[in-house]
Amino acid sequence: MTKFVYTFGGKTAEGNATMKNELGGKGANLAEMCLLKLPVPAGLTITTECCTAYYKNNCQLPAGLMDEVHAGMKNMEDIMGMKYGDPENPLLVSCRSGARKSMPGMMDTVLNIGLCSKTIPGLIKKTNNPRFVYDSYRRLIMMYADVVMEKAEGIEPADGKSIRKQLDDMLDAYKEKKGYKSDTDLKAEELQQLAEDFKVRIKEVLGTEFPDDAEAQLEGGIKAVFKSWNGKKAISYRRIEGIPDDWGTAVNVQTMVFGNMGEGSATGVAFTRNPATGDNQFYGEWLVNAQGEDVVAGIRTPNPLNDETKNEQNKHMHSMQELMPETYKELCEVRRILEENYHDMLDVEFTIQDGKLYMLQCRVGKRTGVAALTMALDMMKEGLIDEKEVVMRLSPEQLDELLHPILDAEDEKKHDVIAKGLPAGPGGAVGRIALTIEKAKEYNDAKITNILVREETNPEDVEGMRAADGILTARGGMTSHAALVARGWGKCCIVGCDAVKIDLEKGIVRIGDKQFKEGDVISLNGSKGWIYAEPVGMIKSTENPLFQQFMKLVDKYRKMGVRTNADNPIDAQKAIDFGAEGIGLFRIEHMFYGENSEKPLEILRNMILANSRAERVAALEQLEPYFLESAKKTLRVMDGKPLTFRLMDPPLHEFAPQGSKKMQETARRLHLSIEEVQKRVAKLHEVNPMMGLRGVRLGIIYPEITRVQFRALFSATCELMKEGLNPMLEIMVPLTINAAELKHQKAIATELKAEVEAKYGIKFNYKFGTMIEIPRAALVANQIAEVAEFFSFGTNDLTQMTYGFSRDDVNAIVKTYVDEKIIPADPFNSFDRECVGELVKIGVQRGRSTRPNLKCGVCGEHGGDPTASEFFYKAGMNYVSCSPFRVPVARLAAAQAAIKEERGK
Ligand code: PEP
Ligand code: MG
Repeated sequence: MTKFVYTFGGKTAEGNATMKNELGGKGANLAEMCLLKLPVPAGLTITTECCTAYYKNNCQLPAGLMDEVHAGMKNMEDIMGMKYGDPENPLLVSCRSGARKSMPGMMDTVLNIGLCSKTIPGLIKKTNNPRFVYDSYRRLIMMYADVVMEKAEGIEPADGKSIRKQLDDMLDAYKEKKGYKSDTDLKAEELQQLAEDFKVRIKEVLGTEFPDDAEAQLEGGIKAVFKSWNGKKAISYRRIEGIPDDWGTAVNVQTMVFGNMGEGSATGVAFTRNPATGDNQFYGEWLVNAQGEDVVAGIRTPNPLNDETKNEQNKHMHSMQELMPETYKELCEVRRILEENYHDMLDVEFTIQDGKLYMLQCRVGKRTGVAALTMALDMMKEGLIDEKEVVMRLSPEQLDELLHPILDAEDEKKHDVIAKGLPAGPGGAVGRIALTIEKAKEYNDAKITNILVREETNPEDVEGMRAADGILTARGGMTSHAALVARGWGKCCIVGCDAVKIDLEKGIVRIGDKQFKEGDVISLNGSKGWIYAEPVGMIKSTENPLFQQFMKLVDKYRKMGVRTNADNPIDAQKAIDFGAEGIGLFRIEHMFYGENSEKPLEILRNMILANSRAERVAALEQLEPYFLESAKKTLRVMDGKPLTFRLMDPPLHEFAPQGSKKMQETARRLHLSIEEVQKRVAKLHEVNPMMGLRGVRLGIIYPEITRVQFRALFSATCELMKEGLNPMLEIMVPLTINAAELKHQKAIATELKAEVEAKYGIKFNYKFGTMIEIPRAALVANQIAEVAEFFSFGTNDLTQMTYGFSRDDVNAIVKTYVDEKIIPADPFNSFDRECVGELVKIGVQRGRSTRPNLKCGVCGEHGGDPTASEFFYKAGMNYVSCSPFRVPVARLAAAQAAIKEERGK
């Protein structure tokens, strides 16, 4: 029979840290902490496989599971010296989720399970603390009603009507009636009364009784955790993080220890290093006389763990180091042991029950890009990790985050800080205020930068948080879920800013003494926690010397080259600064867009509308100096580095004059009637322009277009060589289907090379290659390689042609296809390894069967997708080419692919 339950406790465990797939992150790490002899309350983990079985089984627990659970509970009881459901000496448990990959706050937890009329008197007698018992009991009722009786049952209450909200309101009303400020003011009998009132309300609202039976509570708790795997927020989070639906969650049933037993008890969350900056300091928050949820939920402002890490919000509060120095020392020792074992920064949860420390969780902590960089390099210095591991420690997204803009410190000085909060996620954000999730999404869809401003964020808000460029909350600490999630995404985020007062109904927010409407622009400095009432300038942050040091290591282990797609000297220089080793795609036709393009565009239009070869040649001759200048400027910047020019690949209709004004202008210029211009434009019409007169076809139908380009590129090369420079010219032909097309174009090139060499009196070298963008070309790559000296895979067109999806107008169809799970993702964004990838592999193999040293690269958008890098590396690419800003990320992804391959050997 499949083993579904693994026990841990008593300084031993059946599992260990390597078993995340089976036990989930939490279960595997609890087992590991036991093996490290750390103080962990005994418990058991039900495997993720059991969750999958539960769903397959129509939401029924697999047969025999509860027997296994009971055996595991017996083990816990023996270790802890208590008994579950026992009237004299009752053991209470928590039921917590734990997926393979951490999903902070996205699934449900129930604490204090096992409290019922049979066990309450025994626990009171044993602890001599009725207040604690009734506080635990009312918490159990609140959580159980919310998680097990409402959410797990799929009940969707109207806004503000959830059972949790109703019970919270009852609690608040009770406190108000009594004039109490904090939950801790409530007395035992008051909590007892509240618990009774809660049960009545639950029966009224949900129609069922809160179960007064330990066994029923246990089974309900386990099922509810399984069910929360398919809760709304968990599903949204999985979509964003790309976590597969069939992984399932484990359930951890663990002996309860109590941080709410009085002033000698506490609970807290800590990071073994600062997760925002990476500084090597123990960082965390804790609360006296509280249970874990109080710290992360942002209900009470938590105290600082130590003096070193006090901040704006809690600097006047007592640290654990001050109040419980002995336990703090013990916790520091735990920190040391964990880092030494995991060689990484961990995030831990702990509880102190009557002065005794217990560890409830540890996991590799989420961190900002800056923190990941700082920690990795520090840990290398400390001897905890080697160079290759340093390279593996930053995800491409984290590196990308480092390249993201921050507020310009100089400009910041010119503005007043209107309020301060906690710096929970780094970088800067300038955007319009969005007060609701919907508004943030709406702005994001309209590509308007926005800042989500909320009272507090809860996990239901993930989609809005994702859509926001920055997040600002009035409540919550550095370890609140908002902070964790934002940091994980590298989003600028400020939490716990109590100067923020929101009036949702009026759609206004006060920050300090300023008032804003939704839609007003504010600025956040997420690295400092500062807020500005106006837009502040932003700058890039790559000058960081740690970044430079890290990228050196990246290049040391990288084997695949990285080039850039650029077609002007400014982008080319930017890409070189980011470490590009050449240009993989220079789209010649881009000189007809943007600044200073009016004149060449006019001439291009004349060329397009020419009625005869003579007219066309005349226009082309006028264009030649522009081609030459454009090529020369970028070749100059790229001196000594290869530059691949692609012959013009313009969908011609895009350049034809559109609208009557443009047509009239053109008519005047060409001395034609407007009707004649209209006629000529109409002649250019193609039903499928993406499959029409594009790419090499243009050069074959009108060889004079190819001629002028070769002449300009060769002349640019000669002129730069005369200046003593070293232009490394590569020319590629787009949209090829066979070798004959290339031979046709190569003949023109050979003729013009001789002509230009004679004119300048020098000899030069260049490489002649092609793009592989049509499935046919990949299949006859062996023939094509007889002419082409290199291949560049144009995966944009190759995807279009493989799927038969038009690049220009298939968006709506693709969206429905993805929603309906007909295809897993948009293949234009997410490289389709299965088929487009297969064609790429075939293209490389067949090409090299003819020409073993054939240079191969990728210049479609997928070249900059770090998730595709490993594939391209394994397919044998010499390089990938991507936009300038993606270059560092592509370098990192290439290095990680090489290290992974080596480790796999
Ligand atoms: C491609 O098709 O992948 C490519 C790089 O060319 P373009 O996007 O210009 O068609
Ligand atoms: Mg293309």
